[in-house]
Amino acid sequence: MTTTEKAWGATSATDPLSQLQIERRDTDSHDVRIKIEYAGICHSDLHTVRSEWGEATFPLVPGHEIVGTVTEVGPEVTKWRVGQRVGVGVFVDSCRECENCRAGEEQYCLNGMTGTYGVKDRYGQITQGGYSTGIVVHEDYVLNIPEGLKSEEAAPLLCAGITVYSPLAHWQAGPGKQVAVVGMGGLGHMAVKIAAAMGATVTVLSQTTRKAEDAVRFGATEALATSEPETFRNNRGRFDLIINTVSADLDLQQYLSLLRTEGTLVQVGMPPEPMAVNAKWLAGGRKSLSGSMIGGVAECQQMLDFCAEKGFGAQVEVIEADQVNEAYERMLASDVRYRFVIDASSI
Ligand code: NAP
Ligand code: ZN
Ligand code: ZN
Repeated sequence: MTTTEKAWGATSATDPLSQLQIERRDTDSHDVRIKIEYAGICHSDLHTVRSEWGEATFPLVPGHEIVGTVTEVGPEVTKWRVGQRVGVGVFVDSCRECENCRAGEEQYCLNGMTGTYGVKDRYGQITQGGYSTGIVVHEDYVLNIPEGLKSEEAAPLLCAGITVYSPLAHWQAGPGKQVAVVGMGGLGHMAVKIAAAMGATVTVLSQTTRKAEDAVRFGATEALATSEPETFRNNRGRFDLIINTVSADLDLQQYLSLLRTEGTLVQVGMPPEPMAVNAKWLAGGRKSLSGSMIGGVAECQQMLDFCAEKGFGAQVEVIEADQVNEAYERMLASDVRYRFVIDASSI
């Protein structure tokens, strides 16, 4: 037995998203059923449905920034009750046994975490994401949405928020640290808010200065245009940590030159094409180039609680489901302020 839910998704890499129907499994012993209220639009959704990261499985319903209400729990569920407001992020399962799962780093599951959409789950079904009216998830992969956060502003925290919180915490962004955020879209604007709330000095490196006022409002001390050569000339050797959120290929040499000795550039943006690095850009100054992918379940909860305590969620533009294709085009044009969130009641 399954339950039919309405959804928006893609039937091929080249067709626009359209209305679809999907089936959700019945709640297993440890499952919760969630009525989805809001689903954020992540640039990864676009990379995936357009098969930019490899051929996707269609039909495909994207969406991994989900907030909703529990409507049903399996007989052995202990963590959640009907009526509770919860979230679901980028993965809905993992092996639970490997070293990384046991360490709470389920995102790096050695047997492969089960993405919220587009991959085969342990039931043999292809997972379908949050641009839908309901979802069924194992209780261990569900997050609590703390009071004080608006649901639509909380949704983007489930991917954009945790993706920048994790490296900022790992590399200890805090007082006395100079942090640069490259690209101020969905991830970037959360990186500014979170790094500033952690006490770091934050600089935004954006293509233009059009977003400068917003950057300062989010907690940055300044916003510099990467289209201006003097940005690179004047800030050489300045930053302890650079978080690159850009969805396209960038000239890494320019950005590595902005790091202090022993500084780290963390790639969270995942452009489809490989990025070139010359070893001497790292060797001179003992610099590090790293990457980081979302965060574990416990860390994601920590991030949600941190944002609630500091009193901020994402800055969002709520849209109806039938505006999703237009939202994708605007996101591609860097015209997102700063996360599109689908009101699931319009699906
Ligand atoms: P987004 O909202 O579209 O933001 C990307 C920003 O990058 C844009 O707003 C723009 O900022 C800048 N940008 C875009 N194209 C550019 C270009 N050609 N040259 C220079 N700058 C450009 O996307 P997002 O949702 O934040 O996601 C960003 C990337 O992170 C995507 O590749 C996504 O797949 C990836 N991602 C990774 C993880 C992870 O776990 N590592 C998680 C989620 C997303 P300005 O206008 O300020 O320049
Ligand atoms: Zn995402
Ligand atoms: Zn594992």
